[in-house]
Amino acid sequence: MRTLLILLALGSSLSAAPKRAKNIILFLADAGGVATVNAASILEYGEAQKLFIQSWPNVALSDTSTASSWVTDSAAGMTAIVTGVKTHNGIVSQGPDAVRGKKDGTRLKTILEYAEERGLSTGVISNVAVADATPAACYSQSNDRRSFGEIFLQVFDPRFGDGVDLVMGAGRKRIYDGVKEKGSNLDSVAASKGRKIYGEVSEVGESDARPIVLTDGDIKVPEAARKAIQTLSRNRKGYFLMIEWDTHTDNPEQGLGNLAKLDKLIREVAGMVNRNETLLVFTADHSFDLRMTGGRRGEPILKDYAEWKKTHKTNEPVKLAAVRVDHSHTGEEVIATGLGPGAEGFRGFIPNTRIFGIMMDALGWKR
Ligand SMILES: [Zn+2]
Repeated sequence: MRTLLILLALGSSLSAAPKRAKNIILFLADAGGVATVNAASILEYGEAQKLFIQSWPNVALSDTSTASSWVTDSAAGMTAIVTGVKTHNGIVSQGPDAVRGKKDGTRLKTILEYAEERGLSTGVISNVAVADATPAACYSQSNDRRSFGEIFLQVFDPRFGDGVDLVMGAGRKRIYDGVKEKGSNLDSVAASKGRKIYGEVSEVGESDARPIVLTDGDIKVPEAARKAIQTLSRNRKGYFLMIEWDTHTDNPEQGLGNLAKLDKLIREVAGMVNRNETLLVFTADHSFDLRMTGGRRGEPILKDYAEWKKTHKTNEPVKLAAVRVDHSHTGEEVIATGLGPGAEGFRGFIPNTRIFGIMMDALGWKR
């Protein structure tokens, strides 16, 4: 009886203290709105709500509007998520006092920079160009998302700690060209900082704790994610990792397929990490104009898409029996959800800037 009472007392005191996250992995489905998440489950499993993320109990709906418009791009969308501040489209982690392509604004401090300042390890992975707006907003500030050179050179010129430790993504040529336009040679800049740039994830050696991988074609996101978690988790202080997978549905087969693949990766990662100390977050920077307007159980959701592709151009609106896609971002809320310590913050209708706050609270960090 006495033991039981002690156990009960212990249990209540443990549950009273908020559980803190040591690590955060932010999974970003670019353009993965509610309709895309729903359709991805039906494409992959022939049934709604079968994705792993759809089994998570803590869910919020996140408003993605910018400081000036209802529909966001990836730059303003991701800036809000990683800095807690709404800015304008095209602007990467600078305040709304920035003017796109003309004038710098306040440089905002990103959650990756907070992590660097505290000695954690940090990383970004993207299946698209890793100097593009979504990953860029984590490790750089720019008044124009197209300034690939200016953006990527900030990997080597950090404001906090020793800068982003692990960078893996596509866009090799555009990034090298962008740096060249700035009058620098990327390999020399990297070498001067003791960093090596690889062409494939498989080339990265065991001992390189700060690898940069720039691929010509698509990067294998699961392979990159496994390597990143293995590398970053050596830091006993913890790590912050952002993994982006593009789920724009201009080609619905590809976009929905990528979302299902991302979900499978999240399931795998949930089994790899210590769940008591790692907060997994899933959200999107903005939604996309994909609508399910028909379809029947037992029939493939993208039935006749192969035929449609033969007779239409890729930029034409897609019209199938079950699905329609117009090729634009849309302004309704997206899902924000989490698993692990601090995930209980994901509830109700929230602004996208609140996702930053939920992650900071999970880590127990003041801002
Ligand atoms: Zn986007």
